[in-house]
Amino acid sequence: MKKVRTRFAPSPTGRMHVGNLRTALYAYLIAKHEGGDFLLRIEDTDQERFVEGALEIIYRTLEKTGLVHDEGPDKDGGVGPYVQSERHEQGLYLKYAKELVEKGEAYYCFCDKDRLESLKQEVAGKEIVVYDKHCLSLSKQEVEEKLASGVPYVIRQNNPTSGTTTFSDDIYGDITVDNSELDDMILIKSDGYPTYNFANVVDDHLMGITHVVRGNEYLSSSPKYNRLYEAFGWEVPTYVHCPLITNEEHKKLSKRSGHSSYEDLIEQGFLTEAVVNFVALLGWSPEDNQEIFSLKELIEKFNYHHMSKAPAVFDVVKLKWMNGEYMKAMDSDTFFEKAQPYLKKVLTKDFDLRKIADMVKTRIEVFPDILELVDFFEELPEYDIAMFTHKKMKTNTETSLEVLTDLLPVLEAQDDYSNDALYALLLRYVEEKGYKNGYVMWPIRTAVSGKQMTPAGATEIMEIIGKEESIKRIKIAIEKLSK
Ligand code: GLU
Repeated sequence: MKKVRTRFAPSPTGRMHVGNLRTALYAYLIAKHEGGDFLLRIEDTDQERFVEGALEIIYRTLEKTGLVHDEGPDKDGGVGPYVQSERHEQGLYLKYAKELVEKGEAYYCFCDKDRLESLKQEVAGKEIVVYDKHCLSLSKQEVEEKLASGVPYVIRQNNPTSGTTTFSDDIYGDITVDNSELDDMILIKSDGYPTYNFANVVDDHLMGITHVVRGNEYLSSSPKYNRLYEAFGWEVPTYVHCPLITNEEHKKLSKRSGHSSYEDLIEQGFLTEAVVNFVALLGWSPEDNQEIFSLKELIEKFNYHHMSKAPAVFDVVKLKWMNGEYMKAMDSDTFFEKAQPYLKKVLTKDFDLRKIADMVKTRIEVFPDILELVDFFEELPEYDIAMFTHKKMKTNTETSLEVLTDLLPVLEAQDDYSNDALYALLLRYVEEKGYKNGYVMWPIRTAVSGKQMTPAGATEIMEIIGKEESIKRIKIAIEKLSK
């Protein structure tokens, strides 16, 4: 069997959309599952869409996500250059287009803007130009003359107007279209650059790509690509078109809803491993119900024959859950390193951030969750004394006032504010009085945090904020409760 070769062929137009990341991942997994090669090709022939810095984003994203390419602009594998504008400069695309012209499979078209404008028709509410093959009837001599006198031109594919073309996609099956629907698409633009439609075929062939993995927006053009392969006498690759990704409302993903690009997700506090894991499941699922996969496991288990045709829903709730699972599984050092910038956003005093990080690790789904969870360490928030009432703990404002008033002098006399010492101290009080733990711990925790939910218990919080601040907060509580 031929060695599997796939490619990721992004256009350098900005941040990497999750749809593109999924394409890259699937192309990588299909190759690696079979011990094949994964190539990176830069498709920069649309010079108007080029965005400064986009190349760096592509390299960085592939590196961070672990989708290491075997060949690419920075790793020569003998079929380069791997950047389309460089291939264009070598005259490669024009050479192949001319070959098709020779064969009668393509032709020069000199129609100007005005003429094309007049061909516009409305199809399904959209204005499109269906070219009428006007220039196909030009004689060889007429073409030569126009070329010699520098009339601007494009080169178009010459598609039949009757009969059908069938192509086969490994996910979507056989698709047959009427040839009358295949417009004579442009292969070489008036600026001399090839279109995506032409360059992808030429490059995939020359680079020995066996499996073309891409978004399903290219599905409808694939019959035309097949005609190009056949016109050249080249073997048609295996097509793997990936299903659409939608948001929870089954609409196109948008930047507004916050799930547009890999970098956006990282900025929102998601972990790379979780994003990759999540994206892998947008259009594919394993035979069992496993949901958490390392990249290595994905390589082992990914079988593109089990990809789905149905649109995949980008479910942020699920991504958050998954991210939380990755957080829990992370070792404490790594977590601390990543959590630190968030902790420092709200905690400026001399706290033991390491301890606080350990407290929140199992309680968050994304890093920004940290902010709300720990801000009370820095400053006691305004709170309502209704919080002292807790049915299960059998506490209310009166019992709380009594316990806090009782304990204030005890806590003032205590010097060791370590969690262990404080806990032992409070336990002694609990036993002496014959109370239940919560009856004492609840009012103290409420007093020192001013919050209903905290990432740690009363004594752990007191250890972090220290004696002076703890006493201050308990006095505030007593004052509030005495009113
Ligand atoms: N440059 C195209 C894109 O970014 C690539 C499509 C393909 O993978 O063939 O959409």
